[in-house]
Amino acid sequence: MAIPRPKIMIVDDVKANSRLLAKRLGDEYDFQIVTQGDEALAEAIRTLPDLILLDILMPNMDGFEVCRRLKAHDQTRLVPVIFITSLDDEEDEAKGLALGAVDYIKKPFRMPIIKARIKNHIQLKQARDLLEKQAFIDSLTAIANRRRFDEILEKEWYRAARGQTSIAMILLDIDYFKQYNDNYGHQQGDKCLIQIGQALRDCMKRGSDFVARYGGEEFAVILPAQDLEDAQKVAKFIQEQIAELQIPHDYSHLESPYVTVSIGITSFIPSDSTQPESLFLAADQALYLAKHCGRNQIQKYQPESLNLSTFRL
Ligand code: GH3
Ligand code: MG
Ligand code: MG
Repeated sequence: MAIPRPKIMIVDDVKANSRLLAKRLGDEYDFQIVTQGDEALAEAIRTLPDLILLDILMPNMDGFEVCRRLKAHDQTRLVPVIFITSLDDEEDEAKGLALGAVDYIKKPFRMPIIKARIKNHIQLKQARDLLEKQAFIDSLTAIANRRRFDEILEKEWYRAARGQTSIAMILLDIDYFKQYNDNYGHQQGDKCLIQIGQALRDCMKRGSDFVARYGGEEFAVILPAQDLEDAQKVAKFIQEQIAELQIPHDYSHLESPYVTVSIGITSFIPSDSTQPESLFLAADQALYLAKHCGRNQIQKYQPESLNLSTFRL
C-alpha cells in the first residue's frame, strides 16, 4: 500500500497567496486551501491535516483566534500550527507561540528555509502519531490493548448515557490456558493468543464494534447500541469462530479436544447512578458464572439494579 502524502492545510484570505505557496512547496504534500477562519476550523475537524499553515490578518476571525480554537478543540488540539504572517512584531510572535503554534514564520520568507521547517514539523508529527498508535496496540496480538479499551469504554458509555441507548459487553477467557502453556510451551501459548486475537477481530462486523486484549488470556468486546440478544448472537458467533480454529488442547479438562473459551455477556442502558465500570463488572460476573458452570459456554448477567455492591468484588 502506498504511504499517503502528508496533508497540509493553508489558511489565507488571499487565495492566490496559498496557491503560490502550495506550488512552491512541491508535490510531496496534499494541500487543502481555505480562505476563512470558521471554514478552517470546520475543515480541520473533518480532514485532520498533518500541519496547518495559518495567516494572521484575516477578516471575521483572525489567525490567533483560529489557533486558540483549534487548540481548545479535542479533535484538533494536536494538529501542529505554523503562523505565516507579515506581522513582524516580537509581541505577535510571542503571542502566536504562546497560543500553541509550533512555529512562526515571517513574510517575506526564503523558500528553502520554510521548506525545511515544514519538513521537520511533519516528521515530528508523524513520529508522534506512530508512538500514539503503538501505545494503544497490544504488541503480541496486534489488536487494541487495555488502555485503548478503557478509553473506548468511557467514550461509548457516556454516548449511550446521553442518547439513552443500550451498550453491551462481552468478556471472554480461554479455558485451562495454564495447562496449555505448561504442556505446549509459552511460545505456543503466544501463538494461540495471536490466533484468537485475530479471529476476534474478524468477528467485529459493525464499525463501532470494538475488541481488545484485556489482560493475559482475557479479551473484551464493546458493542454500542446492542441489547442482550444482539450480544448473545455475537458471542455465539465468536464461540463458533474459535471452535473453527481447531487449536488442539489435549490437556484441557473439558471434552473438546480443542481450545475453548468461557464467555460472559451483559447489556444495559446507562443510568445516572452507574459508571462505565458497572458494565465491565456485570460482564465479569457473567464470565464468572460461565467458568463456574463448567466452562466452554456463554452466560449472561443483567442485574435489576446496578448498584456496585451487587457485584462480586
Ligand atoms: P480457567 O479455565 O479457569 O480460565 O483457567 P486458566 O488456566 O486459563 O487460568 P489461569 O488464570 O490459571 O491461567 C492463565 C494463564 O495464562 C497463566 C499464564 O501463564 C497464561 N498467560 C497469560 N498471559 C500470557 C501470554 O502473554 N502468553 C502466554 N503464552 N501465556 C500467558
Ligand atoms: Mg483462562
Ligand atoms: Mg484468566
